[in-house]
Amino acid sequence: MERGAFFIGVWHEKNWTFILKKYTHLFFDLDGTLWDLKRNTRTAMEELFVTHGEHIGHIDFELFFSRYHYHNDHVWALYRQDKIKKEDLRYVRFERAFADVSHQASSDFIDQFSLDFLEVAPRQPLTMEGAHQLLDYCKGQYAMHIITNGFVEVQGHKMKAAALEGYFEHMINSEHVGVRKPHPDIFRYALQQAGAKVEESLMIGDDWDADILGARDFGMDQAYLSVKEQEQNATNAEYGNGPVRHNYKPTYTLHSLSDLMEIL
Ligand SMILES: [Mg+2]
Repeated sequence: MERGAFFIGVWHEKNWTFILKKYTHLFFDLDGTLWDLKRNTRTAMEELFVTHGEHIGHIDFELFFSRYHYHNDHVWALYRQDKIKKEDLRYVRFERAFADVSHQASSDFIDQFSLDFLEVAPRQPLTMEGAHQLLDYCKGQYAMHIITNGFVEVQGHKMKAAALEGYFEHMINSEHVGVRKPHPDIFRYALQQAGAKVEESLMIGDDWDADILGARDFGMDQAYLSVKEQEQNATNAEYGNGPVRHNYKPTYTLHSLSDLMEIL
């Protein structure tokens, strides 16, 4: 069988019919899917704690970092729904994290810290495990593209720092489209730009709402990279809570990017 092609069974008029299915276009999310958002954020934040050491004093880094993630996730969810402006998102996640560690920070300091974060973080080079192997494997066999909700002025730096340039034909940024994932218009726009048909396209991403449900609702197959979910399950198990469950099964669930090489 040709690479990238496979058969799926369809129950049709009391018979199994097998149809050939083949992807020709792969659409990747960037943050947390190819570019290692978590590890890169940690390195950037550690660096900022050193450069702003005088102002920061003795803040517990781990506590601050976990509070930052908590607020960051929250404001990004609002941003996807158009309920917070980019400038406010940038500022508020740090304002709240500093407040949570009882640090009296002036608005000027928070503003500078949040601007510096946007300078330092996108220059970090770490990719998700297996990212380059996967991209090298797919290069030449598939047309590859990025669909990202990330800020337009930083996504290019991330691509460059992580040596991700050169694999992708199109980089679709929500700021150019005017809507964010999971809005169907961004998927529609991406496919138009790529000249791709929906049935030949696969969305690969780590965000359940933006990437997976977004692609599903647009009628596109999805590969869900569930590293975060595994971590969440481990944390829940530790605290006696149940595993994370979704009442929808994506086309594929990946525990690492290398799993995708078995599918493609
Ligand atoms: Mg992501």
